[in-house]
This record gives sequence, structure tokens and C-alpha cells, in this order.
Amino acid sequence: MSSYDVDLFVIGAGSGGTRAARIAAGYGAKVMVAEEYRVGGTCVIRGCVPKKLFVYASRFAHEFEDAAGFGWSIAGTSFDWPTLVANKDKEIARLEGAYRANLGRSGVEIVAQRATVEGPHAVRLADGTRLTARYILIATGGHPNLGPAIPGRELAITSNEAFHLERLPDSMVIQGAGYIALEFACLFAGLGVTVTVVHRGARLLREFDDEVAQRLEAEMRANGIAIELGVTITGIHAEAGAKRVSLSDGREIVAGEVMLAIGRQPNTSGLGLANAGVELAANGAIKVDAGSRTNVPSIYAVGDVTDRLQLTPVAIREGHAFADTVFGDKPWTVDHSLVATAVFTEPEIGVVGLTEAEARAKGYRLDIYKTDFRPMKATLSGRATRTFMKLVVDQTTDRVLGVHLIGEASAEMIQIVGIVLAMGGTKADFDRTIALHPSAAEELVTMRTKHASSDLPEQSAESTPAI
Ligand code: NDP
Repeated sequence: MSSYDVDLFVIGAGSGGTRAARIAAGYGAKVMVAEEYRVGGTCVIRGCVPKKLFVYASRFAHEFEDAAGFGWSIAGTSFDWPTLVANKDKEIARLEGAYRANLGRSGVEIVAQRATVEGPHAVRLADGTRLTARYILIATGGHPNLGPAIPGRELAITSNEAFHLERLPDSMVIQGAGYIALEFACLFAGLGVTVTVVHRGARLLREFDDEVAQRLEAEMRANGIAIELGVTITGIHAEAGAKRVSLSDGREIVAGEVMLAIGRQPNTSGLGLANAGVELAANGAIKVDAGSRTNVPSIYAVGDVTDRLQLTPVAIREGHAFADTVFGDKPWTVDHSLVATAVFTEPEIGVVGLTEAEARAKGYRLDIYKTDFRPMKATLSGRATRTFMKLVVDQTTDRVLGVHLIGEASAEMIQIVGIVLAMGGTKADFDRTIALHPSAAEELVTMRTKHASSDLPEQSAESTPAI
């Protein structure tokens, strides 16, 4: 008989917490999960899933444009925002139900309350109940960073509210140039909103490959999105039906909505972690070792609250590794390198591995391969979009260290490329793979010319096999 009320108490039923709870219960552990909001966490409720649904909605604009070149005439298209929001809400409710059902089937008890930590083996529920646990897992995720307290900051929305706007604004100012700012900029622009991106830096997507970021910027501008670099929002003032946004260079922009997408912060405040002596980083993230264990041996943390890689599949892996290790006697740790990721902009980006700059900084001698072509679908429509691909190859071993894509279907392609890199794939492996024609992906295996980093890539009018 355990001397604790439960073997595992999980705080937060998002992707990481849910996976850990289910796997631990599968090993026979008595598991309880506390969730103060909705089961599913950021990804399901107000992140990846609703965002991707909005991205699909926004892409019909270009689909309709392309259709004309293929002989279709599509007259009188119109878009209804409340329909999209209502249908999205229905789907999110269905997914939340599936998450709940999965937990229930696994024998995990869900407690619909906030829980805080009282000690290395104790938690307190909002209704006052005190419970003891052999292990506590913190999987509380993160929340949008609001930045400095500028005048009128409360008038701005974040991605949380963007999913529930009552009406679609005519215009929007979005601050930030990371995943969230750029995905929302592109999706709102696709839905007909006049979008201005305001960013403090000199380029978009600071941690991504330079050329990919430059191409995204050019395509976003070509799609009618204004991008203001080297400036920040210094104030927001309400006006009749709109917001007047002051910029650090003295200019003003009037827009229907203002959105801040300037990073996310770990949800650790008020969790009682100090009661147990859990160490936090300067930004509030929980410090953990490779096995997601904190400095307190009975307390672990996974997902965004640890601020390692803020990605759903990473949180899921961390939760799974924790449960296998602690409850299944199958110890393993998550490899945080070579994680494929996509930015669902228009066009979308898919990357895995090192950027050229990162690889050079690590001292690799590199061969760079790149290609730039007009995707076949755009040839008849005449739409001015291109696809760009870059392979970063270690000259000494021929291993492909990084792959960087921007263009249609990049997210789908990069997931598969991720397998190749995980297997230690070399450029020779890419070369001996026969192309699948006609596809965009075939260009991945037909690049033959080495480039200096400043060279322009091979350019072809359209995707054609190397004959
Ligand atoms: P990111 O860290 O990606 O980007 C934050 C942006 O805000 C950067 O451009 C940054 O500029 C800027 N910024 C940060 N602080 C300030 C400030 N005080 N004032 C002005 N600008 C500032 O964060 P996001 O919010 O876009 O997304 C959070 C995380 O969520 C991502 O890192 C990602 O891991 C995850 N995510 C993943 C998605 C996917 O997989 N498709 C989609 C959405 C989110 P600078 O570059 O100068 O630091």
C-alpha cells in the first residue's frame, strides 16, 4: 500500500501532462490530473489546432485566385467570420472531449480545479483539499508575454483573444516577428484584413535561416502585408471604433485591432513552487535536467513551463519519457536536436537541423545546396510565389546537418526529411534517391551545385526534373 494519496499528481492537462498521466496510469500508477481551464492545453484549445483551422480558411483566397488560371470562374465568393469561429469552436469541443475520454479510459482522475504545490509530496486544490503524491509533475504551459507596460496595453489582444473576436477587423497591427505574429499576420491577411507587422529587429524570424526569412518577408509584402522593422509600439489609444497605435519612430497607425505576439512565458507564478524549493530560471521557467527532473527529486516538469522547445510534440515526448522512466522502469531522455518545425505562414516554412549560420558558428566546413523555383501550380495561375530549398551539408562527413524550406507543402515535406536527418542521412543518400516527378519534393534530391552562402541559388522557371 502506498503511503501517498496518489502515485502521480499532474498539474495541467495539456499535451505533456495528458501524455504523462496516461502512460503512467498504463503502468498501474494511481494518477490524478488537475486542470483549471479546459482539457487539451494551449495546442488544442488556443494554439496549434484552431490556428491551423484558421490557416486553412485563409488559404482559400489564393486557391480561388489560382483557380481562374485552370479555367474555373468562381463568382461572388464571400467569407463569414462567425461561421468559421463557430465551426472551429465545435471542433475544439470535440477534441477536448476526446482528450477527456482518453484520460478516463486510462483510469486517470481529472480534477477540474487549480492545484498548487505545498511541498515535495503535497498539493492543495482550490477547494482546500490537500493531497499527497509520490511524484508531482508540473505541466502548466505558458501564456502570452505582454511586454513593457506601455500606455493602453490593455487595449491590445493576444493570440488567446484572436480566436474569439466577435467580428473580423478591417485592419490590424501585430507586434512581433516570431511564429505567432507571422502566422496570424498571414492568416488575417488571407481573410481580407489589412495587416501591419511591427517588429523591433531588422529581420523576421531571428533564429531561422537568413534566406528563408528574407523570402518570407518579400512574399508577405507581395501579399499586401506592411512590415515595419526597427520599431516598437509605444502606446495604444482608443478612438471611435478603432485604435491609434504610436510607434517608437513617432509615426502613428490607426487599426481595428492591435495584437501582441512577442513570445510566451512559463506559467509558474502562484504555483507554490517556492514551498517545495523548486528552482526557477530568471524568466520563471522551471529548471530541469535531461530527464525533466527538477532540483527536488519528487517533482518533475515537462513542456512549455520548462521553456526548452515550446512545441507540442516535444512536450508530449517529454511527458512520455518521464512516465516510462519513473513508472515503467524504461529510462530514456528526449533528444531536443533535430526537431522538425513549421511556420504556417503564406507561404509556409519547414525546417529541421542547423541553419547555415549555426553550423558555421559550430565550426563545420560546409557545402551549401539551394534551389529556387516557381511551383508548378503557380505556372498556370500566374501567382508570383516561389519555393526555396536549402541543404546545409558537412563537407567532412557529407552528413546533411540542416534542411530549410519555404513554399507550398514545406511542413509536410520537412516531417519526412526529419526522419532522414535522424538516421544520419548524407548528401549522397539524397543524391541516390530517384526523384518523384512532378512534385516540389523532388527538388530535394536533384540539387547538385554547391553554393557559397552569398550565391544566388539555381533558378528554374518551374519545377522540372534535372534532365
Ligand atoms: P517567438 O519567440 O517565436 O517570437 C517572439 C517575437 O517577439 C520575436 O520576434 C521577438 O523579437 C519579439 N519580442 C520579444 N519580446 C519583445 C518585446 N519586449 N518587444 C517587442 N518585441 C519582442 O514567440 P511567439 O510568441 O511567436 O511564439 C511562442 C512560441 O510558441 C514559439 O517560440 C514556438 O516555439 C511556439 N509556436 C510554434 C508554432 C508552430 O510550431 N507552428 C506556432 C506558434 C507558436 P526578437 O527576435 O528581437 O527577439
